[in-house]
Amino acid sequence: MKNEKYDLIIVGAGVVGLAHAYQAELKGLKTLVIEKEQMAIGASVRNFGMVWPIGQPQGYLYDRAMKSREIWVELSKKANYWASESGSIHLAYAKDEWDILDEYHTKWGQNTLLLTPKEILKHSPHVNPMNLIGGLFSATEVNVNAKEAIHSIASYLQQQPNIDIHYGEQVQKIEYPSVQTTDATYIADRVLVCGGSDFMTLFPEIFKQSPLIKSKLQMLRSKAQPSSFALGPMLCGGLTLRHYASFETCSGLQAYKQRISEESPWFDEWGIHVMASSNEFNEIVIGDSHEYGFSFDPFNKQQINDYILDYLQGFLLLPNREISDTWYGVYAKNPEGTEFVHEVEDKVTIVTGFGGAGMTFSFGFAQEFMQEW
Ligand SMILES: Cc1cc2nc3c(=O)[nH]c(=O)nc-3n(C[C@H](O)[C@H](O)[C@H](O)COP(=O)(O)OP(=O)(O)OC[C@H]3O[C@@H](n4cnc5c(N)ncnc54)[C@H](O)[C@@H]3O)c2cc1C
Repeated sequence: MKNEKYDLIIVGAGVVGLAHAYQAELKGLKTLVIEKEQMAIGASVRNFGMVWPIGQPQGYLYDRAMKSREIWVELSKKANYWASESGSIHLAYAKDEWDILDEYHTKWGQNTLLLTPKEILKHSPHVNPMNLIGGLFSATEVNVNAKEAIHSIASYLQQQPNIDIHYGEQVQKIEYPSVQTTDATYIADRVLVCGGSDFMTLFPEIFKQSPLIKSKLQMLRSKAQPSSFALGPMLCGGLTLRHYASFETCSGLQAYKQRISEESPWFDEWGIHVMASSNEFNEIVIGDSHEYGFSFDPFNKQQINDYILDYLQGFLLLPNREISDTWYGVYAKNPEGTEFVHEVEDKVTIVTGFGGAGMTFSFGFAQEFMQEW
């Protein structure tokens, strides 16, 4: 039994835990990150790797996403992971989709451009030109390879003199200032619980009373595309307009949602919208669906993957359509806000519930959260 003392102990080595550890490192705080798995295997390594300010409403959330974006790029140089400042294009194949993009650009378009089909094909030669009306290019999105980036950030932090990361050690009890794990007891000035969607190990009674819910998302990855292929900006189709809060101020959105729910109710039923990102191996990461609950079917539904791939074919013509991997991820979501922050007691805080925007928000949030420490 050790009784080592730290300024900060962080439970969980997903993106939320690591983002706070990075801020702690910048502040010179002696910090211990404790992760129950032998490596991060949660939502933070299962996602698209999309750092996605365009999805956030203007104001402090967009600014937080932009701050995160800046940190992702800055950290890629220190931690040596692939980060492409590719931007994104929302593609419109129907008039109502185009009207929403046009309205968004008119209201909030300081970082966006409306593109004609010809201009889109210059950026992204493999976009399906059939019935393409136009697109909204945004310069601000950054594409990382989630698994590689998270593991590189952890390795970088482990090399810093003030940061320790212990893998394969589960935190079982926190009785401030003591943190008990499967292996030892530590003492901390502050404790952050960044345990993602694990609601049952620590403070289950708090989670039971919280609004938090979980979502299961199905994902796919193509085999490597030929070297002549480049995705260009990350891409999404019209269904994504229903998914992100940024488009909620657009007057045509409700009617568009109504049309989709009448014409193709399976997209609502399975929470499907379709996006495509890339990685440094020229594989295309494709998703996703959203099922909500607390425990999920351990198997993926082929029908959901088929819906996703059919819709993708409508806007992206991949030279190599072979799928190499399918998987699912689960994240914690706070339906009443953009995150869940709960002070268990003075100096012990739960930080989770970023939903589908944890990669986009974590670094900006952590910087704000730890500013006054
Ligand atoms: C399929 C999918 C696609 C997504 N796409 C995007 C995207 O493109 N852009 C974006 O911004 N967001 C995206 N997200 C959301 C984002 O991935 C999550 O919001 C984010 O990863 C949550 O990070 P986290 O650190 O809270 O959770 P996790 O990554 O799950 O990490 C929590 C960690 O805590 C550990 N832990 C829990 N309890 C304990 C304990 N008691 N002791 C020790 N360790 C413990 C767990 O083992 C885990 O490693 C996506 C999510 C999914 C699932």
